[in-house]
Amino acid sequence: MEPGKKTEPNKRLTILGATGSIGQNCLNVVSRLPQHFSVAALSTHTQVEKLLGDTAKFKPRMVAITGTEPDAEQRQQLKAHGVEIFCGPSALTDLAEHSDYDLLVNAIVGAAGFVPTYRALKRGRDVALANKETLVIGGAHIMAEAEKQQAAILPVDSEHSAIFQCLFGEEPKSVEQLILTASGGPFRQTRAEQFSKITVEQALKHPNWSMGKKISIDSATMMNKGLEIIEARWLFKIAADRIKVVIHPQSIIHSMVLFCDGSIKAQMGLPDMRIPIQLALGFPQRLPATFSRLDVASLQELTFEEPDRRKFPCLDLAYKAVARAGNAPAVLNGANEAAVDLFLNRKINFDQIPVLIDKALKTIDYHAGPGIDDLLQSDKAARRLVCQAVS
Ligand code: NAD
Ligand code: MG
Repeated sequence: MEPGKKTEPNKRLTILGATGSIGQNCLNVVSRLPQHFSVAALSTHTQVEKLLGDTAKFKPRMVAITGTEPDAEQRQQLKAHGVEIFCGPSALTDLAEHSDYDLLVNAIVGAAGFVPTYRALKRGRDVALANKETLVIGGAHIMAEAEKQQAAILPVDSEHSAIFQCLFGEEPKSVEQLILTASGGPFRQTRAEQFSKITVEQALKHPNWSMGKKISIDSATMMNKGLEIIEARWLFKIAADRIKVVIHPQSIIHSMVLFCDGSIKAQMGLPDMRIPIQLALGFPQRLPATFSRLDVASLQELTFEEPDRRKFPCLDLAYKAVARAGNAPAVLNGANEAAVDLFLNRKINFDQIPVLIDKALKTIDYHAGPGIDDLLQSDKAARRLVCQAVS
């Protein structure tokens, strides 16, 4: 170190869902920047061996295993690294509340991420949020708690990171519209009549991104963009009717903002989740990285088109749910998770996913101002209804 040069404090991270696609990308960023980041705690649902490997490498003080019990040997190995082990469904909140971190990275998939985000914010900790379901289920509570505790929610989702960057230095009142880009997924050019025959393997093959199973199916139905509309509504405090979706199959422009003078700012880059992850981890600093650069001159074309809302009804279901507000987005999310699970287990056809979500939105009791427990109940009720509808 040069004499007199100030060093930035090392940020301690608790990473929930460390063994998943975002979690592993996050650990890749950490391993490249050891002078900036260290790991306080890690969680996995069932991938205990992977967690063991990352424990040896990143030396967390605590780990959580939520979906299985480690066997005696795994327990022994974890203990040998001196880590405290939390197991079972409450283990995530144990980490959020008791591990020694500056920033919680929430890379859990699904509704299980909601309560841990809330608890971290309640503790006044900043959150790097990949788990969009958190804001879909309970955006009002999450944003209110963040404001109350003066804690930051830093977007990891590439579209929201793009918008976040476009808004640097801008005043909220000059924003006219947010433009979320969507690749269109694997079935952009598939005829609607073919949708009932889509297989799990076809739906899991995303053209541009490599991701976990649930978000891959969400991208194929375009519910991912629906969830992102709701996520953006809360993160950027803007009415959903000022959030537009545009198909951009190359996934180079990650999203845009239209300002009141007609100017549009866009953020571009290769589709590599480490870029938005590193920005969220390092914020407010933009740290250097050696990831591949986008060679703009090599781009043959950037194209845009309107989404086909008839073929992808999940988009309108999301707009409907966010307009209804209350517990409707939590119902949408719970029904979607249950329907995606049924599709992945080959119990329903691909085109039944939106039908089941619509049924849940029409059937589950509406609450205008739900508390946290009401939201969790609505999530459960939506899942139950979807499962009963097909049994
Ligand atoms: P993934 O399936 O690859 O990983 C999920 C992680 O969560 C794993 O570590 C798993 O062990 C854990 N997990 C799963 N179910 C759990 C449960 N019930 N309780 C506790 N832990 C559980 O998913 P992913 O693709 O990394 O996505 C994670 C989140 O990030 C999702 O909300 C997704 O929408 C969002 N996201 C992902 C990407 C991407 O490129 N993968 C991009 C943007 C946003
Ligand atoms: Mg996204």
